[in-house]
Amino acid sequence: MTSVERGRGRYAPSPSGDLHLGNLRTGLIAWACARKAGLGFVMRMEDLDERCRLEHVETQLRDLSEIGIDWDGHVLFQSDRVDAYGEVVSRLRERDLLYECYCTRADMKDAPRAPHAPPGSYPGTCRHLSETERRHGRDKLSTMRRGPALRLKADVATLTVTDRLCGEFTGYVDDFVVQRGDGAYAYNLVAVVDDHHQGVSQIVRGDDLLDSTPRQVYLQQLLGYETPEYIHVPLVLNSAGKRLAKRDGAVTLDELHREGWSTGEVFSLISQSLGIHSGTSAEFLEQFSLDLIGREPWIFDPLARKSRSEE
Ligand code: GLU
Repeated sequence: MTSVERGRGRYAPSPSGDLHLGNLRTGLIAWACARKAGLGFVMRMEDLDERCRLEHVETQLRDLSEIGIDWDGHVLFQSDRVDAYGEVVSRLRERDLLYECYCTRADMKDAPRAPHAPPGSYPGTCRHLSETERRHGRDKLSTMRRGPALRLKADVATLTVTDRLCGEFTGYVDDFVVQRGDGAYAYNLVAVVDDHHQGVSQIVRGDDLLDSTPRQVYLQQLLGYETPEYIHVPLVLNSAGKRLAKRDGAVTLDELHREGWSTGEVFSLISQSLGIHSGTSAEFLEQFSLDLIGREPWIFDPLARKSRSEE
């Protein structure tokens, strides 16, 4: 059986900046999970956001290659897939599974919610409007030069998904947006459509996306797609317990190189966070196992970085 028949893993960064150590670590784990399981591995650029730039596509792919991640076939760009998303939205619309939403941010803030609904979840305000109310909604938005968003009519409130690291996770499935008022297709839709299109059977990504997984699995079920295996990996935090970010100093490969780190040294740093001592992706792969990941975030201590640069 070839790896394509057995399925594929993937990495799907958004090219809105350079990858930092946390992104590189998640990419490396995604690659190792797929390769270790004898799966294919594909790359996708989630470049629908207006902050995405070609220069970041180039540096991200260069950095991933530099630490020894390889992928099969060409990189998929979501900006090339707009027609495919449009077709899926039309299919959902034909099945009467979508409705127009005229809510502004302010409307959403003030809307009453069910007692345990999480902040930001949609209370269904526009789901059962009369034709006249819809017309008013469209008129209101057109004065703001906007169109309505399209939301999915979800007929469940929560869904339980299974994750190899996190176990069973029950999360909210609200009437989430599939197409925004400005016409852009929403992340939950495009990720599901593309994972299916790319034959992805294993999704490894940061555990900040665990919350989105019940919505994505719900959509997969509606579209008749198979649900992939999920592996949500803890993020990298700074010593203050906050998500690693630019302000933490040298956190990208380029920045670390400028502080004197070689590629092998950055690689060792990442692999040591999993208890692996290796300087190349081949050595890493040999020693890698899912059991090494754990549930705790990796704390990247700027002091450790400093001592290296002062050597
Ligand atoms: N593009 C997303 C990110 O960079 C990842 C989406 C996914 O893996 O489903 O955070």
